[in-house]
Amino acid sequence: TLFIAFAMSFYLPLSVADEYADARQRMVQIISQDVIETSSYLGTETLAPTVLQAMGKVPRHEFVPRREKPFAYENRPLPIGHGQTISQPYIVARMTELLIEGGPLNRVLEIGTGSGYQTAILAKFAQEIYSLERIKALQEKTRKRMRTLKIYNVLFRYADGSVGWQDKAPYDGILAAAAPAKVPEQLLQQLAVGGRMIIPVGEERQKLFRITRTEEGFDHQFIEDVRFVPFRSGVR
Ligand code: SAH
Repeated sequence: TLFIAFAMSFYLPLSVADEYADARQRMVQIISQDVIETSSYLGTETLAPTVLQAMGKVPRHEFVPRREKPFAYENRPLPIGHGQTISQPYIVARMTELLIEGGPLNRVLEIGTGSGYQTAILAKFAQEIYSLERIKALQEKTRKRMRTLKIYNVLFRYADGSVGWQDKAPYDGILAAAAPAKVPEQLLQQLAVGGRMIIPVGEERQKLFRITRTEEGFDHQFIEDVRFVPFRSGVR
């Protein structure tokens, strides 16, 4: 009996924490399927196994408001308050892959922390993440959430991301979760040579780009048509 009680004390919390495990695995299957279906114009057949593994581990249900939890593992954005959304899992996986493909990531700058879901995925691939958010209430909630989830390699700052985070530059990667009409010049300047930026650009209809900094300048690679919340200036 003593042994059983001892074993149960480990098993019980685990089974509670894993109540969404099956749903999460299904989500991973759906996003890999999505990539196969769009591969004709994306030029990739599959997502990197490491990205799928990360998506299979991060508990997306912990990043959405209580009433959205039943939908947490559907492949779509969900409201997180303040007129913002948690990004679609498929696009989180794609953007992560686009960022890690170019080589190891030491420092990454993220614009638009939001719920912190993308941040938590990135935290598995980079040494340090610097994440900016212009809505104070969202930022504070996410900061606490990351502490609860024991994700410690992220520094948050409440600021307008269009000027980047100069003191920590240059970055091996920059990822924007909101779409500006045009790429802010200061963000480009904070990329290291060999560094890349994954960013949606445009007003109504947006295009996702990967911009790589070379010795000579910047290489722009169009990835696909996307839809993101607008990149806004100032803080609130
Ligand atoms: N990847 C996040 C996306 C959140 S939506 C998630 O999955 O939860 C995009 C976020 O970008 C919003 O929280 C919005 O407030 C923020 N944002 C928009 N413009 C910004 C700017 N100029 N600087 C910082 N954050 C910005």
